[in-house]
This record gives sequence, C-alpha cells and structure tokens, in this order.
Amino acid sequence: DRELAMVQGALELRTKAVAEILTPLADCFLLRADALLDFATVSEILRSGYTRIPVYEGEARGNIVDLLFVKDLAFVDPDDCTPLRTVTRFYRRPLHRVFHDTRLDTLLEEFKKGKSHLAIVQRVNNEGEGDPFYEVMGIVTLEDVIEEIIKSEILDE
Ligand code: ADP
Repeated sequence: DRELAMVQGALELRTKAVAEILTPLADCFLLRADALLDFATVSEILRSGYTRIPVYEGEARGNIVDLLFVKDLAFVDPDDCTPLRTVTRFYRRPLHRVFHDTRLDTLLEEFKKGKSHLAIVQRVNNEGEGDPFYEVMGIVTLEDVIEEIIKSEILDE
C-alpha cells in the first residue's frame, strides 16, 4: 500500500545519489547574467513557472554564478529595462552546490538546515588531457527528494 511504499522510498534515500534524480542542465531554465529585465524577459520568466532561476555568466550554461528568485522581481518595472545584475547584486541569494554522488538522505539533511531548497549539482571532470575541473550537471530541489519518498510526481498548480 501507499504507506509501505513511502517507508520504502524513505529507506532508499540512503542508497540513491543526487545524479539519479537531478534535472539535467540542458533542461534547466536559466538566465544569462547580462540579461535585461525588459518586458520580453520578464514574460518569459513568468511563463516558465519556476520560482528560482539560476544565472550563468558568459557563454557556458554550466558557469552558474547567481540565483534569481521570481519574487525578487516584485519591484522591477519592465519599462526600466533593469539589468539582471542590479537585482542579483541587491539580493545576493546564496548558491548551494552538491556533488553528484551525494546520497539523498544527506541532501535531505542539507535542505532541512534551511537556507535554500535548490542546489547546483557538480562533479569533478578529470577526463581528457587538461586539469580536472568542476562540471555542473544540473540542479536538484527538495521537491525532487520528496518525490523519491512518495514515489510519484507532484503536480504543480
Ligand atoms: P518550483 O518551486 O520552481 O516549481 P520545485 O522546487 O517545486 O520548483 O521543483 C519542481 C521541479 O522543477 C523539480 O524537478 C526541479 O528540479 C525542477 N526545477 C526547479 N527550478 C527549475 C529551473 N529553473 N529550471 C528547470 N527545472 C527546474
């Protein structure tokens, strides 16, 4: 029954890693750090339906440097074409990073400590000739962990 499934889901948090439940970078809705908060951009943000949007610098989407909360747009007038940077510098939302092999019970403990319920998932890439570097694989949120416990999709409003 459903209760048994939830207990099983909770027990399996110890055996599953973040890499198995993350939202891949390619599927993430992100903003460029140099974006202007004009009507088109603000509309796109609202249409995405997400409450938190990672911000990347330069050309590489994996170079995530900031986090925008949609509520940070409350005092932004699209007619002013405010640079996104102005908003992220004002709010300075902390960005949390976890490694792809972090177990879900550990991640849940991190999320329970508060701060942010979204983390950037990274791994050390030491393939190839060059020096090892941190590679961003995607994002993971508290909702992803809860879905593993209840073993079904949470439908957004
Ligand atoms: P929200 O509050 O924005 O709906 P949730 O934390 O409820 O986000 O997560 C719902 C799902 O959406 C999760 O699978 C999460 O990984 C994914 N998600 C959250 N933010 C983004 C984003 N900016 N781009 C793509 N997927 C996201």
